[in-house]
Amino acid sequence: MSDQPKEIQTWQMVQPNAKDRETGEKIPGRLEKTSIEVPELGPDEVLVEVAGCGVCHTDLGYFYDGVPTVNTPPLTLGHEISGTVVAGDPNWLGKEVIVPAVMPCRKCILCKTRRGNRCLNQKMPGSSMGIYGGFSSHIPVPSIDLCEIKDRGDIPLSHLSVVADAATTPYQAIQRAGLERGDRVIVIGVGGVGQYLAQELKALGAGTVLAVDINDDRLQSILSYGVDGVVNVRDKSPKDVANAVKAYRKQHGLPAHGWKIFESSGTKPGQEIALALLSFTGKLIVVGFGPHKVEYMLSRVMAFDAEIIGTWGCLPEYYPQVLDLVLSKKIILEDFVQTRPMSEIAEAFAEAHATPPEKRIILTPDF
Ligand SMILES: [Zn+2]
Ligand SMILES: [Zn+2]
Repeated sequence: MSDQPKEIQTWQMVQPNAKDRETGEKIPGRLEKTSIEVPELGPDEVLVEVAGCGVCHTDLGYFYDGVPTVNTPPLTLGHEISGTVVAGDPNWLGKEVIVPAVMPCRKCILCKTRRGNRCLNQKMPGSSMGIYGGFSSHIPVPSIDLCEIKDRGDIPLSHLSVVADAATTPYQAIQRAGLERGDRVIVIGVGGVGQYLAQELKALGAGTVLAVDINDDRLQSILSYGVDGVVNVRDKSPKDVANAVKAYRKQHGLPAHGWKIFESSGTKPGQEIALALLSFTGKLIVVGFGPHKVEYMLSRVMAFDAEIIGTWGCLPEYYPQVLDLVLSKKIILEDFVQTRPMSEIAEAFAEAHATPPEKRIILTPDF
């Protein structure tokens, strides 16, 4: 076990991409290596030595696209963290942990009514935990929400960082959807989050899972993780897609009603397809985020007796269940992650911003 450090080494976001208000000129974002003092830890806090921190779409939104962090920069981004407790609460010392991306306040009415994943006072590393984030050597966090990793076998600790967000967000979405054994499901977008979503749906008892995407390689790949069918929707209208799904349904003798549709692409075409696929007694679960608007005749929801619901983050209490699925290899992380040294953070951000990578980039500290 490592000793408690005197300083935290970190890659701070000094300045996100911005525009000069008067001249309209672009101000490029800046990430800077720096060191900060280890804060005084409270009785319910620990210091986690970071093993890995995943680069999430949300981080790129903060850095490139003007999405504001709750605390103002300079601060360190990164909320997909795994590591080892090296200081603080003695009950946790030496333990390997996952730090939940979203930590509810546990006091408000939402928290007390099991909606704490959408607590309005929630803390998120790399946004609302002061200057602290995961792209660091260490991070101070409350111990109450930590998820202990007991026996990770041959899975590297750094890889388990994606449990903090990419693999848990789908789990919460599945709970929100009220998945039942044998359910018929469509997953739109099987990239960063969708590939875990598809795997978890099968692991949790979905009957038929259809994957929809615009990338053939991705679709072919997801077929080997238990998905039942795939539809490539590149250059297809929502109507064409609905017809393709109908053909699949007929071919397999499946009824038209009751399909659960998970939209995880966060794109406008993806959302339009999701709405076109929503039918009698169906549910549409909005998992992905995008800043555009879509048009829809809302009365269809009424006529279909259907539901459209949103889902945000994941309750920390579900983390051990997701970790179990990962450690028992019911869902596979390994094939969907890659690690890079944290010193390459700027390059990793630029690359992931240009084209969402097929394998999630996890940065490992190399200060
Ligand atoms: Zn995230
Ligand atoms: Zn709360």
